[in-house]
Amino acid sequence: MQEQAIRSSEELIKLEDKHGAHNYHPMPVVIARGEGVHVWDVEGKQYYDFLSAYSALNQGHCHPHILRAMHDQAQKLTLTSRAFYNDILGPFEEFATSLFGYDRILPANSGVEGGETAVKLCRKWAYTVKGIPPNQAKIIFVTGNFWGRTLGAISSSTDPSSTTDFGPFMPGYMIIPYNDLDALAEALEDPYVAGFMVEPIQGEAGVVVPDDDYLPTAYKMCREKNVLFIADEVQTGIARTGKLVCCDHYGFKPDILVLGKALSGGFYPVSAALARDEIMLTIKPGEHGSTFGGNPLACAVAKAALEVVRDENLADNAEKMGIIFRERMQKNLVEKHDLVSLVRGKGLLNAIVINDHEDSPTAWNLCLKMAENGLLAKPTHGNIIRFAPPLIMTEDQLHECCAIIEKSVDEFV
Ligand code: PLP
Repeated sequence: MQEQAIRSSEELIKLEDKHGAHNYHPMPVVIARGEGVHVWDVEGKQYYDFLSAYSALNQGHCHPHILRAMHDQAQKLTLTSRAFYNDILGPFEEFATSLFGYDRILPANSGVEGGETAVKLCRKWAYTVKGIPPNQAKIIFVTGNFWGRTLGAISSSTDPSSTTDFGPFMPGYMIIPYNDLDALAEALEDPYVAGFMVEPIQGEAGVVVPDDDYLPTAYKMCREKNVLFIADEVQTGIARTGKLVCCDHYGFKPDILVLGKALSGGFYPVSAALARDEIMLTIKPGEHGSTFGGNPLACAVAKAALEVVRDENLADNAEKMGIIFRERMQKNLVEKHDLVSLVRGKGLLNAIVINDHEDSPTAWNLCLKMAENGLLAKPTHGNIIRFAPPLIMTEDQLHECCAIIEKSVDEFV
């Protein structure tokens, strides 16, 4: 077949529609280039990226330090598998464990694999350390959680679009209401409970921030019952909420920390679970792993991505920009327009709630309007729009973005 020059967004959208699985419903924008806080579509129109690939691009698009690390490493060695040692994994592990304050790290690829690793570690610890009888361990999850699309992950989901027609599901899960300490106290009475897995802020559910005392009290309650607190920081971690990880806001260190997304600055799928010796060393050789997990290219990229977060003080910037963003959105949207009922979030993980029912197309249409005006965001859960720009955003750029959002709302109502 003759290769054809395909250029327009319309043609490219049609191609995906014809040949790809229909498991996504993207905004009708075809991105061809990204740099820093901006992307450009195939027609050359420039946009602010206000989603950052669901918080995987905290360092911005194509960050030169990460690009250099990837390019240099790709010319030397990309993959060995873990059948052999490689000269990049150890230094990366030393760097990451010291940065996050854990004894050990287990590197994987996608975020959901990080979560699966945490669940397996928790179960192994339950049987070999805590002494729960074989196959009886339970892990507590909360309503509205999202940690990916494997069967292990959707088995804890309360979202019908994740679960319908995909059963049967994983046993050994308990699901309690989010942000409900009484429900947690009751669940923790079960002696077979081994872990409590939670996102400090629920990203996919619509940037739902719990009460201030929820997480530190939940952590304390888990400690008292010898239950592992597993923080899924795939979306909230790596400076997104204004601290290196979101639990840092609350002054405790989860027993297992799951990271992904911006761990690689958007260059490569890298995720990880971190834990102390007592937990991590329960898994023995041959019991868990993956062909690509811990490969030298991934480790070089992830180390560079974390260096950017540290050296460019991205957590501090996220904290500062987040305050400016929420104050301005509160004043110029929530207090001025009936259309927007709420702005919420932490650092640069924020959302506005549209004053319309969950199934209404209003949020989607407002996102189309914002795209027309040069800013890309996408609704999550119908009437909520998540705003998660790269953390390298300057104050001037942020104000420009706020002006685009306000203009779009003005034009919309
Ligand atoms: N955990 C959280 C909190 C997430 O938001 C996501 C993805 O959005 C995941 C896990 C899964 O990550 P991945 O899509 O890389 O498997």
